[in-house]
Amino acid sequence: MRGHLTEVAAPPRAEEAQWTKCPSCDAFVYHKRLRRNLGVCPECNYHFRIPVASRLEQLLDEDSFVDLSADLEPLDVIGFVDSKPYAQRIADAQRKTGRQEGIVYGTATVGGHPLVLAVMDFAFVGGSMGSAVGEGVTRAAELALERRIPLLVVCASGGARMQEGCVSLMQMAKTSAALARLHEEGVLVVCLLTDPTFGGVSASFATLGDVLIAEPNSYIGFAGPKVIEQTIRQQLPEGFQTSEFLLDHGMLDLVEPRENLQGVLRKLLQLHDLAGELPETEGAEPLSDPETVSRRPAWDIVQLARNIERPNTLEYVGYIFDEFVELAGDRLFEQDAAIVGGIGRLGDLAVAVIGHQKGHTTSEMMERNFGMPNPEGYRKGMRLMQHAARFGMPIVTFVDTPGAYPGLGAEARGQSIAIAESIMKMSRLPVPIVTVVTGEGGSGGALALAVADRVLMMENSYYSVITPEGCSTILFKDAAQAPRAAAALRITAADLLRLGIMDAVVPEPEGGAHIDPPSAAANLKTAVVACMRDLVRVAPDELVEQRYDRFRKFGAPGRQPTLPPIGESE
Ligand SMILES: [Zn+2]
Repeated sequence: MRGHLTEVAAPPRAEEAQWTKCPSCDAFVYHKRLRRNLGVCPECNYHFRIPVASRLEQLLDEDSFVDLSADLEPLDVIGFVDSKPYAQRIADAQRKTGRQEGIVYGTATVGGHPLVLAVMDFAFVGGSMGSAVGEGVTRAAELALERRIPLLVVCASGGARMQEGCVSLMQMAKTSAALARLHEEGVLVVCLLTDPTFGGVSASFATLGDVLIAEPNSYIGFAGPKVIEQTIRQQLPEGFQTSEFLLDHGMLDLVEPRENLQGVLRKLLQLHDLAGELPETEGAEPLSDPETVSRRPAWDIVQLARNIERPNTLEYVGYIFDEFVELAGDRLFEQDAAIVGGIGRLGDLAVAVIGHQKGHTTSEMMERNFGMPNPEGYRKGMRLMQHAARFGMPIVTFVDTPGAYPGLGAEARGQSIAIAESIMKMSRLPVPIVTVVTGEGGSGGALALAVADRVLMMENSYYSVITPEGCSTILFKDAAQAPRAAAALRITAADLLRLGIMDAVVPEPEGGAHIDPPSAAANLKTAVVACMRDLVRVAPDELVEQRYDRFRKFGAPGRQPTLPPIGESE
């Protein structure tokens, strides 16, 4: 079922046929059942292409759509003729679809949240983008900007429309420029990519949304599969240019089945329309006096920080946030499972969340690369930081990594540059940032997510310039001296609090966070909320200035506290 980009026939009328054959599993599906199932094959989950009217009905609040596209007119700008004159082709498409052009746009609500939306119609000359389609998307974007409400574009297209020549090509620039203004003004743009989305549409507005969602198994790409095969004379692998392929390659935020789309959209709209109060919390207060922090030996703390049962980022997110939408992808190379991120709701405040992610079993750990990110993980993080900055959302980061991944590919793709850029970008973000080291704070790979206004540590976590094992091998010439190295490096919460590297320590339940994750999370939530309460009152310029000073003082003569040698009284 590889993407045939030609026009498909309009759905047969009820009296013509009661059954449709599923092109994926060959099952015959009764029409009413298919419609009830949102146009998804009940046997194999194949997502049929659906008419615009069904799309509007499935996504929007009932009767909320106001159609503004009545005066969109196709233009015959170059008098193109192939097997028939362009004007004739358009007239045929209009007769077939009952629509003036291949796009509908207007205003509506989803879950009561107002938005502007534009929906492409694949049944109209293959959803191709000529002047009227470009005009529809652009007008929708301009209206969203004027009203400062989100824009949703539902894409389905074979690409630019050849019959309008270079005027079609210019629609890519026109629509992209219109979306750029929304980005500059912090107006949310969501693109829903459906089967198929190709060419001049995928290479312009369709992939320029703040959030990119695709339906499962949709064909999405730049060059059509036949063009690629003919050019490179190779057979394309199974699953190439599908939504899932794009998600794996970091190009999409989400692949969601049709039944989830309205819910996801409602959540996204809500999260981008929230700037309310922080919640009340019930956990233990964070510790700011080093004397009150537990005094376990450093090596014991390293073992606790690495305990495979220790709660991980997504678990803490589940405990702390009232709602969370995970967003994936660096939009450059690959989905990196060692860093997760998204947008969550903390009370009535929307917050961007980024963190290293580990697992509890060997297979989960392998899937997450043991929490060791590649450059694309950091680039995903930076993309989400920029998203947060654009929408004025505070950021919470969770640090838990033995270090950035030391691999061949990581080096080739610029691991150093990714970490450096993340550190630099964080230092200038005009939104509050709170970091919590929840487990392992391994060197630059940890710091890349930790240039924050407030940096906290869980009581049994560590933060270090190098692993104790690495230090032991290099300086003690013996890996077995790791416990000694751990103590010498002063990597515990108490010591780092004394050094001013930490602002406060989050108490853990007796025996460690893994003994009682809910109460560890409650303490963490209390600490994060307390920090945020202070920071949300600070003006963005002031925040950036204070953050500069926070890191400027490290190692500055007269401003840097020092620790007495181990064994001497402190
Ligand atoms: Zn099927």
